Amino acid sequence: MSNIAENLSHINHLIGERKATLVAISKTKPISDIEAAYRAGQRHFGENKVQEMTEKSEHLPKDIKWHMVGHLQRNKVKYIAPYVHLIHSVDSLRLLKAINKEATKNNRVINCLLQVHIAEESTKFGFDAEELYELLSGTDLSNLEHIKISGLMGMATNTSDTEKVKQEFLALKQLFDEIRERYTLPNLDLSELSMGMSGDFEIALDCGSSMIRVGSLIFGARNYG
Ligand SMILES: *Cc1c(COP(=O)(O)O)cnc(C)c1O
Repeated sequence: MSNIAENLSHINHLIGERKATLVAISKTKPISDIEAAYRAGQRHFGENKVQEMTEKSEHLPKDIKWHMVGHLQRNKVKYIAPYVHLIHSVDSLRLLKAINKEATKNNRVINCLLQVHIAEESTKFGFDAEELYELLSGTDLSNLEHIKISGLMGMATNTSDTEKVKQEFLALKQLFDEIRERYTLPNLDLSELSMGMSGDFEIALDCGSSMIRVGSLIFGARNYG
């Protein structure tokens, strides 16, 4: 078995009986690494750059499900709209509208997760709870017939303080459960909670994650990205 296959098998073992999807984050890694993972049965792959994902997808089997996990610019949505499986990093209504427009052109419905800002680090990306309520209560969302909001995505603070990480994941799980109860819209189908990376996915799974995004633990450390 290759290292990549062994790493996947180890992570799948840790997921165990839980119903969670493993998304292999292959950013900066060569096609041959993705092929090794594919041969080991992996089908969900994630990238954080539009051009890199599009180039890779053109050279790889068509049954791969491609996940966009990085910040997405509105003018680049058109490149991934024909094939993307799930966009994890939706952080504004303007971006949702752009995705809806390109999805309409491609005659498909694109699955999206709303990125929620849960970490301590200040970042301009992601909704906070209030902004999320505002979006879900407004009328704009229900007019976007070519998008489906499938859930939420969050990234915990990058720290060795596991208690802190756990509190952040639990807060996101609570928000997820709350909005699931509170809002019903035709294009809202909240079933996925994307949280957990190489350093914290076991905590995330314990806190109710349904989708983990793991890169370096599968493919090895990255030099950049
Ligand atoms: C790079 C990346 C990951 C994977 O990170 P690792 O620590 O290598 O597992 C997960 N999510 C996002 C949004 C990323 O950009």
